[in-house]
Amino acid sequence: MRIGHGTDTHRLAPGRELILCGVHVPYETGLLGHSDADVATHALMDALLGAAALGDIGVLFPDTDERYRGACSLELLQTVVHRIAELGYAPVNVDVTIVAEKPRLRPYIDEMRKNLSERLGLPMGCVSVKATTTEGLGFEGEGKGMSAYAVCLLTQATDGGNLP
Ligand code: MG
Repeated sequence: MRIGHGTDTHRLAPGRELILCGVHVPYETGLLGHSDADVATHALMDALLGAAALGDIGVLFPDTDERYRGACSLELLQTVVHRIAELGYAPVNVDVTIVAEKPRLRPYIDEMRKNLSERLGLPMGCVSVKATTTEGLGFEGEGKGMSAYAVCLLTQATDGGNLP
């Protein structure tokens, strides 16, 4: 078993779509970034890469690379899962927490879990997405940005493999 942790933060800005775990959430602002700025999927990818000691998404998908402008983070997640599989590892479960004051995310959580479960090759029961506020405190509470945290477990796949 390998454990991984990831975190990410993006600013909120007008004129951007708000995309969280691949779900387009209707809101007056969206997250700013080179890709689709899906902060939750970014934190999850860093957790997976961390568990495999493969660096982080800044190494794999540099924001100076035009190929990743507006990139769909769910597709990048798929690439990360493939990289891990090449080393003989597979995800066991993941737990993602989104920190956002607004909007209310509860109605979108199951769609987020479904999107992640499809890319991870895991049943929904092994994919947790949660949302929390900071009760108005800090940049998330002031609506200036959103953060996300993720943890994951990897297990050695039956075909073996060695981590670097
Ligand atoms: Mg990011």
